[in-house]
Amino acid sequence: MTDTTSTDLDIESWLDENWSPDLTVGEWWERLGSAGLSNPTLPVPYGRGWSRGQAGDLAAAMVKRGALGPPAGIGMMLAAPTLIAHGSPELVDELVPKILNGQHGWCQLFSEPVAGSDLAGLQTKAIRDGDEWIINGQKVWTSGGQWADYGILIARTDPDAPKHRGITYFAFPMLQDGADVRPLREMTGRAMFNEVFMDDCRVPHDAMIGDLNDGWRVANTTLMVERSSIGGETIAAPSAAIAGTVSGHLDRLAGSFGDEPHSMGGGMVGAGRVKSLIKLAQENGMIEDPTVRQGLIRLHTMIQITDWHIGRMKSGNAATGSEGNLAKLRNSDITRLAREVGCSILGAGATLVGPDSPSGGSVQELAVFSPAPAIYGGTDQVQRNIIGERGLGLAKEPGPDNRTTPFSDLPKNV
Ligand SMILES: Cc1cc2nc3c(=O)[nH]c(=O)nc-3n(C[C@H](O)[C@H](O)[C@H](O)COP(=O)(O)OP(=O)(O)OC[C@H]3O[C@@H](n4cnc5c(N)ncnc54)[C@H](O)[C@@H]3O)c2cc1C
Repeated sequence: MTDTTSTDLDIESWLDENWSPDLTVGEWWERLGSAGLSNPTLPVPYGRGWSRGQAGDLAAAMVKRGALGPPAGIGMMLAAPTLIAHGSPELVDELVPKILNGQHGWCQLFSEPVAGSDLAGLQTKAIRDGDEWIINGQKVWTSGGQWADYGILIARTDPDAPKHRGITYFAFPMLQDGADVRPLREMTGRAMFNEVFMDDCRVPHDAMIGDLNDGWRVANTTLMVERSSIGGETIAAPSAAIAGTVSGHLDRLAGSFGDEPHSMGGGMVGAGRVKSLIKLAQENGMIEDPTVRQGLIRLHTMIQITDWHIGRMKSGNAATGSEGNLAKLRNSDITRLAREVGCSILGAGATLVGPDSPSGGSVQELAVFSPAPAIYGGTDQVQRNIIGERGLGLAKEPGPDNRTTPFSDLPKNV
């Protein structure tokens, strides 16, 4: 049974006093953020230093009373932990509280048209101009870029240094002249991600996260957090509200979202998905079908083991250093299996789309979204390369010596 009395807070009493569907999203998120409850696994003063189990208790209590979940997305998942690990105290004070109370939305400006798997091959340039940096280049696949106030940006600051050593990490203000965000439509029908063109954009020097030319090390923190987050079970109550000043959600009533789907869509598969597939199988007379039953059990087992694996990793008991990569690989398998099981339950109905189709369209949306987790955050093939090279010490891929050759002398894709 869920224990909603945490060591330092009675969750039910706190929710009694603070949650109301009549608060605006901005007011509600401010309460969560200032109480350290937006992401309670973060260290004090940003969070409460809680375990994943304690955070899960809060999430369960919020879901039970229909409370809107905390701000989610790139800010909470990637920017906050990266800033806390590498940002100057001033930058952390300026930016992290506004991630935790949802005032700012963030996106991730990493991938480029010729730098996805080969991320360190990025060509977006940052050139120093007094107290600022001038940014020119193009990013792509920028999830949520159309709603972002800031982006975590990696750009090349020294093309004559070896590939991984001439990159710097910035907090990039998105709402400025020269930053052009163009949505890309996916086969789900949504436009979750974007191309972002930066034409003589400006970033203050003080917005550098980590040291000059040390951005690859900082980016590795982000990538590690990303891979383990993608692989792990969500431990926050869901929220359809989008953080930041652009979406307009901060002024809506917190209780007005109901079952509204998140505009980003997506298909993270967790324990809730297994329950909904079981219900679907019961409703469709497929619960006695042996292959559906086996699929459901396999899905449950894979999710449960992955969750324990992530829990062990996040409690500091990682054994090989590749746990995040393994979790991410397993998440790709879980998503594909959930798609197969869902489509088996629906049969020909799985080819219909839209809210009036069988399963309300959720299985169908998962089916068209399912290739994505094996790509974003680093493809399955790239995870296997990392596990092989860093985890098992296998031979590196053949190619030029990236450690000594200046980036400007390396062969480029364009
Ligand atoms: C839904 C979605 C959301 C995303 N959101 C963001 C975002 O918000 N911000 C962001 O910066 N990026 C984002 N991405 C981009 C994502 O990180 C890249 O798509 C990914 O890293 C792969 O890069 P690529 O698309 O350039 O493919 P490529 O690198 O061109 O790879 C093409 C194929 O070649 C394989 N391959 C490439 N190199 C190797 C190798 N060395 N060994 C073996 N196989 C290899 C790959 O596995 C893949 O199958 C998102 C992607 C998706 C699908």
